[in-house]
Amino acid sequence: MNIGKRLLLTLVLLLLAVFSLSSLFKLSGKTEHEGAESLAAIVDPWITQTIPPGGSIFSVLANLELPGTEIGMISYRFGDFIDVTTIQPGDTLRVILNEEGNKIAKMMFVQEPTIRHHFEASGDSLLYTMEALPVQKQLRMINGTLETTLDSALLSMGLSPADKQSVNHGLEGEIDFQRDARKGDRFQVFIEERIFEGKPLPRAKIMYVNYDGVRTGNHELFRYEQEDEKSVMNGLYNKDGKSNNTSGVGYPLSSIHVSSSYGKRLDPFTGRWANHQGVDYRARSGTPVYSVANGTVISARYNGGYGNEVRIKHPSGMITLYAHLLNYSVRTGQTVKRGQIIGRVGSTGRSTGAHLHFGLMTNGRYINPSQLRMVGAERLNQQQMAEFETQKTRIRAMMQAHSRPQQPA
Ligand SMILES: [Zn+2]
Repeated sequence: MNIGKRLLLTLVLLLLAVFSLSSLFKLSGKTEHEGAESLAAIVDPWITQTIPPGGSIFSVLANLELPGTEIGMISYRFGDFIDVTTIQPGDTLRVILNEEGNKIAKMMFVQEPTIRHHFEASGDSLLYTMEALPVQKQLRMINGTLETTLDSALLSMGLSPADKQSVNHGLEGEIDFQRDARKGDRFQVFIEERIFEGKPLPRAKIMYVNYDGVRTGNHELFRYEQEDEKSVMNGLYNKDGKSNNTSGVGYPLSSIHVSSSYGKRLDPFTGRWANHQGVDYRARSGTPVYSVANGTVISARYNGGYGNEVRIKHPSGMITLYAHLLNYSVRTGQTVKRGQIIGRVGSTGRSTGAHLHFGLMTNGRYINPSQLRMVGAERLNQQQMAEFETQKTRIRAMMQAHSRPQQPA
């Protein structure tokens, strides 16, 4: 709020300055046209907001003190074009308001400085275009020896926190670091960085990780990638085609209030004891519902007592269910990412009020959603394993070619 007020104040002061300047121009006998040109040069109509840690599009829009309906509409439409899970602190939102100052006329969202999403208001809708500035790709091999922790070693070698996290998650399931890591253990990370204005951008492609220790033994991870650059399967895998990243699980709502938990309960309709095969989360109608992990939509339909429901199958084989939705925004067969909006909370089907019924299934049976963490693990199937083998060979060749000219004389 403070930032918003300060911005508004700055804007008002600027406008005042501009008005006094424009009257000066008139006095000095300049034509109005020339005056107007100088105005444009002085006033930057864009209001810039930076996403703070833990912030969202919604929170920065709220800083602009726009009417709630406008903020709601814009953040809703925003999600239609931009994968909200890719929004990072430091990304900037720039807007131009209409003359009344109560609606957004133009908006630009700048991500990791090279990606610019442009929005222009046209009646009640937003016209969207994307602009990606060119980046240079560069390969880098990081070699190190463990002094204290792998974390600090990776950061000191210039890996961004997000990339360091990916390496960690990849190795987590392979190695018990608490127990087995020792000073002097050796590690190797091979990455493809994107360079913009001389500096590497966060989220490098991690192609290869190797950890070798006396007690841990040798562990290799390779990047597996599908043709679709945004595929939910892309990432680090061990030699068996297993990804150890079980942290890729989120919650179906941005804030969680359980109104009915899993197991025996009095059925609100019959008044009898029944087994509740999921968890109910209380939420206002229209609240966005997110996919808890990467996966594929196996159904999105109206299904009797469950009303509008979405079922997502995750690579771990588990299925998540989201029921009583007001509406859904995905279709059967579509791949979704963790955190992607799949619909809105509602009260369709056999429901006494707005809430989300969230279910978790494995081997055709409902289980307690407290087992949710298991949903995140990914495993390559036979065909993917074959692709993985080819890609491993290619990565090894890339590393060899890369290390040759760098060999010290
Ligand atoms: Zn329920």
